[in-house]
Amino acid sequence: MGDAFSPEQRRWLEGFASGAAAVRVIPPPNKDAGPSGPEAAHFKAQDRTVAAGKKLVDQEKWKRTENPFEAYNRLKKEALAGTKPKPDDNFRWRYHGLFYVAPAQDSYMCRLRIPNGILKQWQFAGIADIAERLGGGFTHVTTRANLQIREIKPENGPAVVEDLTDIGIVSRGSGADNIRNVTGTATAGIDPHELLDTRPHARAWHHHILNTREMYGLPRKFNVAFDGGGAIATLEDTNDIGFQAVIVPDGTADRAGTSLEPGVWYRLALGGITGHQDFARDTGVILKPTEAIRVADAIVRVFIDHGDRTNRNKARLKYVLDAWGFDKFLGEVETVLGHPLTRVDASLLPPRPGYDRLAHIGVHPQRQTGLNWIGVVLQTGRLSCDQMRALADISHTLGDGDIRLTVWQNLLVSGVPDDKIAEAKRRIEAIGLDWQTTPIRAGLIACTGNRGCKFAASDTKGHALAIADHCEPRVTLDQPVNIHVTGCHNSCAQHYIGDIGLIGAKVTINDEGDQVEGYHLHVGGGYGTDAAIAQLLYSEVKADEVPARVEGLLKAYLGHRAHADEGFAA
Ligand code: SF4
Repeated sequence: MGDAFSPEQRRWLEGFASGAAAVRVIPPPNKDAGPSGPEAAHFKAQDRTVAAGKKLVDQEKWKRTENPFEAYNRLKKEALAGTKPKPDDNFRWRYHGLFYVAPAQDSYMCRLRIPNGILKQWQFAGIADIAERLGGGFTHVTTRANLQIREIKPENGPAVVEDLTDIGIVSRGSGADNIRNVTGTATAGIDPHELLDTRPHARAWHHHILNTREMYGLPRKFNVAFDGGGAIATLEDTNDIGFQAVIVPDGTADRAGTSLEPGVWYRLALGGITGHQDFARDTGVILKPTEAIRVADAIVRVFIDHGDRTNRNKARLKYVLDAWGFDKFLGEVETVLGHPLTRVDASLLPPRPGYDRLAHIGVHPQRQTGLNWIGVVLQTGRLSCDQMRALADISHTLGDGDIRLTVWQNLLVSGVPDDKIAEAKRRIEAIGLDWQTTPIRAGLIACTGNRGCKFAASDTKGHALAIADHCEPRVTLDQPVNIHVTGCHNSCAQHYIGDIGLIGAKVTINDEGDQVEGYHLHVGGGYGTDAAIAQLLYSEVKADEVPARVEGLLKAYLGHRAHADEGFAA
């Protein structure tokens, strides 16, 4: 027996040869010792933490005690037996995309992975079938251009994960301390205004994550987005890494004086986490689109090694950047890459093309002559399974077969020929959806809320719709206004970037301490070229008073703006 065998293989072979071991004995995990092999890289920072006398958070201990992926068969067996997952196993299930949402409901939510938010119509219909058979009969489009299946009975959780895989959809790593669904420009490849088609990069990063062991088990969740400069905002500046397409003009030189190849590159923005009131900031680095995956990989590796594993509130990339500054962080990235990054003065690069804040709604001509995308309006992201199957059929028979989800919690049917638009509109209306709406409802975003999330202080989706129902007949807007309703500090609906942003709060209504659902109201948020963190205006507004307050804000905006083109945030 030579060196070709690992120690583990050698032990097995020795036992086999001696007849002493007919069954392989796997030693119990040693939670005090980090794993060896490829996973060891994950735990360098943990080992430093232990050496420094700091206490790892529970989630880090759970990762060490039993690898969440290797726990799958045990978790599945226990789920089928009706065992409710304890917090450590609830955390491990999230590596597989399943979230046990008790006490809000005795059920799982499954979050998928849909790179660039684009999937085939037959996959969309297949997800509908799974949601109907094993879930609550509906899905939600999320603010990461993703889908969630909810109200999955505990014993059906494993079947959802496995059935999704059968139709080419994975949920692996869509929760816990992993790299989340990869967002990209919703109109990639069809947008007359885009600089770059983000689909190949989002897809390459998606597969890189799935197939690189070190890309799991980060200090905290991690978001990456690719913006190709299209009409619909990708909100890449709310991500840990935002790749932003930019034109490098002829004659541009980097900071070292080296001439750069003209064309479309990506700018690199880092550290976005709007729930912590920070956008991804421009690093001054640009890179060829073909380099994006290697650079993202190197950034993640530096984060794995240096992120804080002792405090969940300080564990995101932003906090490494805050502690180090860009120079030190990018220096570490360059060490991992083995070569310097390209830096260029931002003043030499043209700004991003403008957004069309209503391009995700209605009919818009594509770059392909005679074809169009149709933005379908959803009620804060909710779709019934029948609606999903009908949309899949519209895409199949009238479009190009792609369903494109957007970060605005709606979807596009693309590739619809001019002479099929009327039929597509009619069929969208026939299933209780619409292709047109008011400027209020077009930008209405809401997280799950307390109908399905244990963290929520309020019924966000219900209250968001109540705001629209109340304001639409009372206020006539000629500009889109984004209203983001989020249930807790996790900020899934990104209330800090809304023109009007609401975060759930319990409001005390009497001396006995009775509480009702309510919100803190913020105003003046924005994104992209108008990036701004919304500021608190009203605290602890009861939910039933919120629609009238929002009406007042909208009327104040209309009454006081300097000109018709002045946006709400201005
Ligand atoms: Fe749940 Fe909070 Fe996220 Fe809303 S923001 S879905 S309440 S975790």
